Amino acid sequence: TNDADVQGQPHALNISIIGAGATGVELAAELRLASRELPIYGMNHLKSSDVSISVIEAADRILPALPGRLSAAATRELERQKVKVLTGQPVSEVRENSLIMKDGTELPSEMTIWAAGIKAPPFLAELDGLETNRGNQLLVEQTLKTTKDADIFAFGDCAACPQPESDRPVPPRAQAAHQQADALFKTLCNRLEGKEAVPFVYNDHGSLINFSKYTTVGNLMGNLSGRSMYIEGKVARLFYVSLYRMHQVALHGFLRTGVIWLMDKISRAMQPRLKLH
Ligand SMILES: Cc1cc2nc3c(=O)[nH]c(=O)nc-3n(C[C@H](O)[C@H](O)[C@H](O)COP(=O)(O)OP(=O)(O)OC[C@H]3O[C@@H](n4cnc5c(N)ncnc54)[C@H](O)[C@@H]3O)c2cc1C
Repeated sequence: TNDADVQGQPHALNISIIGAGATGVELAAELRLASRELPIYGMNHLKSSDVSISVIEAADRILPALPGRLSAAATRELERQKVKVLTGQPVSEVRENSLIMKDGTELPSEMTIWAAGIKAPPFLAELDGLETNRGNQLLVEQTLKTTKDADIFAFGDCAACPQPESDRPVPPRAQAAHQQADALFKTLCNRLEGKEAVPFVYNDHGSLINFSKYTTVGNLMGNLSGRSMYIEGKVARLFYVSLYRMHQVALHGFLRTGVIWLMDKISRAMQPRLKLH
């Protein structure tokens, strides 16, 4: 890259992404790519090195919910892309053109993106007689029954489901929602036959983090061994793209997915990756 080192220089544009989960980290890489393609958007006065991109995380490492090796690889990749990584730094206030950190430091930020996690809609906390947590998720038992009413079930992002041998609930992820749907289907069938509900156990198949067109890193969990295998580069990218297409096949079938794939190819050749206006 031809970018000047962005550390410590005044910049024409300071972009801050608050929250270094997968969403914040992937967005940082996409924005860095977009900043390198600014001339394509007619912004010839702005160079990539004029754009400072910072990812700010309250935990002591980025991707705190994922294995440490992934965090380390992601940090290295972001720094290679001239993205500043600030960890252990909770943001306490967002102002129009700056951020105030918990320790009182003020950071310039003309564009601030909040990516610090999900929150379920507030009306869930107002439902009569059901328990919710700080994020408005309905508290459920391992069987996905709500804690206060055995006839009401909840699953997916809107539910906080306990995990055996962990003090953290099942993470809000597509693979968890998918597995919970299967478990709940069995429970409902059992219920019709007067049988017991099925306790849900989350099976983490791994995670993949995509750094725009630069690289992909991830870990895959061995189903039998339960051990995690670290992957990166072309192999990780192949898994990432295949998973995406497999989801599309599950939703639309092979034929439509083929058409979508072709349309994606055409639009990629004709349109920018990120639409900036
Ligand atoms: C940017 C981003 C990237 C992600 N990447 C990944 C990833 O790579 N891998 C992964 O495993 N997970 C990923 N996730 C998380 C994943 O998307 C969620 O965990 C998953 O979609 C949860 O499924 P769900 O059915 O519980 O909720 P959702 O998919 O959010 O579906 C809920 C649906 O309910 C609708 N709805 C809401 N309120 C109402 C209402 N009052 N009435 C009717 N309908 C309503 C919503 O419009 C929505 O369509 C990502 C999430 C985000 C935001």
